[in-house]
Amino acid sequence: MTLSKKALVTGGAGFLGSHLCRRLLAEGYEVTALDNLFTGTKANIYDLMDDKRFSFVLHDVTQPFWGQFDEIYNLACPASPIHYQKNPVETMKSSVLGMMNMLDLALKTKARLLHTSTSEIYGDPLVHPQVESYWGNVNTIGIRSCYDEGKRCAETLCADYRREYGVDVRMVRIFNTYGPNMHPKDGRVISNFIMQALASRDITLFGDGKQTRSFQYCDDLIEAFMRYMAVSPKRIAEFFGGKPLSKVCPGSVPSSSKIVTPDVPVINTGNPGEYTIKQLAEETLRQIPASKSKIVFAPLPKDDPRRRKPDITLAKALLGWEPKVPLREGLAKTIEYFSKMSGRQSAQ
Ligand code: NAD
Ligand code: UDP
Repeated sequence: MTLSKKALVTGGAGFLGSHLCRRLLAEGYEVTALDNLFTGTKANIYDLMDDKRFSFVLHDVTQPFWGQFDEIYNLACPASPIHYQKNPVETMKSSVLGMMNMLDLALKTKARLLHTSTSEIYGDPLVHPQVESYWGNVNTIGIRSCYDEGKRCAETLCADYRREYGVDVRMVRIFNTYGPNMHPKDGRVISNFIMQALASRDITLFGDGKQTRSFQYCDDLIEAFMRYMAVSPKRIAEFFGGKPLSKVCPGSVPSSSKIVTPDVPVINTGNPGEYTIKQLAEETLRQIPASKSKIVFAPLPKDDPRRRKPDITLAKALLGWEPKVPLREGLAKTIEYFSKMSGRQSAQ
């Protein structure tokens, strides 16, 4: 009899955490979801509660946590600007203390750890598209800094726990990801636009709407997590460590390519399709033809990055992965989810 692998998912009741728990269960894991329910909700995981292989722990990741797991997925941190700016000090603590607690747990139990970093570590990037070797352009004292700098510090901790103690850490810099299970009041652009369009309220376009983002559907991201965690430590050591990509993954790039892998395992995951936020508003309205919403302009929040698009060469080479769901299709699935949810709420 083979024992199933045990996984801990911090932030497991959140948008991405709940998808990850579902996928891990489908792959045969025993799953513990840890969450303080700050932005997450038990509604995202109700359907998993009857599964004997699933458990939920109400816990704040800033406090130490003990348990024996094969794999730890560290997702606990508010991710939407309106939420992470509500309690900025708590946001920083969730990133930094939470990361230390999870790294200590991984160290003591020899668990493999995947940390969810973010494209925000590039700040308002001066390099486009963003490659992993770019160090970023981040304000240390602005309203987004609690999130950006917290995530940057978490990356530093991951790098040092790997170098100093040999913890098997893998980091993913996630670019804007969306889909079902986002909270209707999450505040991020896709859920905002869909909820506004469904209720025929004004669509709030910040700034001139010319800023860009690249939108990744949640299933594509979870697939990347699964593939990354399945890579052997030997292959991770071969691939990373400042080596020419053409050598560690022949055929993935021309032999003349100057791309070198990062010193520690960190990869971008995102959908390289780049859209202006105005295009996103227009596409949302096109997909909800009954909406009577109008686009209205509102001030651009401070330090809002102007452009964002991932270079995913490393993820393609290491994982044989690339996103499959185009924005039009992912948006349709997300609209369907929110319309069903709004229908249920108005029927209650
Ligand atoms: P989310 O807000 O839905 O999920 C975060 C979860 O973490 C929530 O369930 C929340 O209650 C929980 N949480 C927050 N602070 C906690 C704490 N101190 N202790 C325990 N639980 C805590 O957001 P998401 O989009 O699912 O993001 C998940 C992770 O992925 C976050 O770390 C985020 O920074 C990262 N990420 C997401 C995106 C994206 O576009 N969705 C992009 C980049 C990075
Ligand atoms: N945005 C917008 N209207 C909204 C919410 C967001 O125009 O109601 C813009 C926001 O200013 C940013 C982009 O959409 O330029 C993405 O915002 P989001 O909060 O989703 O993510 P992030 O800024 O962290 O990429």
